[in-house]
Amino acid sequence: MKNLKMKLLATAIAFIGWCSVAIAQDKPKQITLFTNVQVFDGLSDKRFKSDVLVEGNIIKQISKEPLMVAQTDNVTIINGEGRTLMPGLTDAHWHSMGAYMTGDPFAAGAGRLNLVAVHGAEKTLMRGFTTVRDVGGPVFDVKAVIDEGLFVGPRIYAAGSMISQTSGHGDFRSPIDIPQSYSRELTPQERMGTVAIADGRAQVMQRVRENLMHGAAFIKLMGGGGVASPSDPLDVSQYTIEEIAAAVEVAENWGTYVTVHSYTAKAIQNAIRGGVRNVEHGQLIDEETAKLMQETNTSVCLQPFYNDEDAIPMPPGSFQEKKYQQLISGTDNAFALAKKYDLLFGFGTDTQGNPALAERQGAQLAKLVRYFEPWEVLKIATSQNYQIMKRSGPRDPYPGENGVVKEGALADLLLVDGNPLEDIDLIADPHKNFVIIMKDGVIYKNSINK
Ligand SMILES: [Zn+2]
Repeated sequence: MKNLKMKLLATAIAFIGWCSVAIAQDKPKQITLFTNVQVFDGLSDKRFKSDVLVEGNIIKQISKEPLMVAQTDNVTIINGEGRTLMPGLTDAHWHSMGAYMTGDPFAAGAGRLNLVAVHGAEKTLMRGFTTVRDVGGPVFDVKAVIDEGLFVGPRIYAAGSMISQTSGHGDFRSPIDIPQSYSRELTPQERMGTVAIADGRAQVMQRVRENLMHGAAFIKLMGGGGVASPSDPLDVSQYTIEEIAAAVEVAENWGTYVTVHSYTAKAIQNAIRGGVRNVEHGQLIDEETAKLMQETNTSVCLQPFYNDEDAIPMPPGSFQEKKYQQLISGTDNAFALAKKYDLLFGFGTDTQGNPALAERQGAQLAKLVRYFEPWEVLKIATSQNYQIMKRSGPRDPYPGENGVVKEGALADLLLVDGNPLEDIDLIADPHKNFVIIMKDGVIYKNSINK
């Protein structure tokens, strides 16, 4: 009986396999030929004139000589007329579930959370951000329906719930909610999968494993004080080195890495001693810590937080406002140290509950000309961010090279009307200036060939 069942199963699998081969053979690959474009490849300081052929989801050929393809139903030919073809932009510190959420995020049900997130995901892709690294939130269903092609959005590298110690940056309980029994009920934010409160090696390991079971590409721990949380001052370090090392061991057994939310030197040093590979924020680092990061090849994802028109409004004089001002004061220094010690660093916006600011994702990126040449700014948000994302190794949900215009790389591409290497502000107005947006070989926007 058991054998019969196995045989039936094997036959069914063989049949499904045959069907998918048959379907694949029936449907010719989509081909897009970009002619007469100036390529910014995500790496170099100059553009070069080329024709670029995309077959399926791969950049098949880049040629200085004109390329020709026969015009058939599956072929799109785009005359670039000297416009810039570049890799899709990426945001390495993004919260898909939180960026567009208005009102009290902790009062939203699963329906509202997911619907608002797919709404935001489409807007994100349509301003040229073809990949986001999602550093916390219950994003797995949103990612799945985008990857399945049911909804429009970017590629998502997901961390899952943000793991926090009691009293840490993920603990939004009020002091009157504690103490709780060791077999306590989950908080509403935990039930939703936004945060997970875990103390001690055993609990930390369990929560890490739960995220990995959901398909997390990496793990995020709260390693130090944060702005929005009610109990923790900014300067505190969270988790012991032993607890951090427990998370790292579990993640590395699964083939991936741990990142920490940390602003201060002390918190970052603890995290590195626990074995983390990347730091989120790092605005309050010092020379010694930057040196340690360099020695241990620890990367950092920085945000352009300033006292400018995009500053996050906080109740004046509040605990949160003081913490926000403290971290903003470190932004220039953190970028300077990342540059001085040649750290691998990424760009991310960390937009929360602010649809208007989310729309300024490209404008936020353009602010980095304060420290870098325009080509370097574009490199940071393309190939450099991808170096951090590829730390997911075998848990990378989108294997293949990305963030570059190179033969064999995945075809996430933008055609820009103008030269962003001369005028970085072009990326601040994507609706006007990005005339083609392609993700995984599929054109989502085409405002020149209709
Ligand atoms: Zn964040």
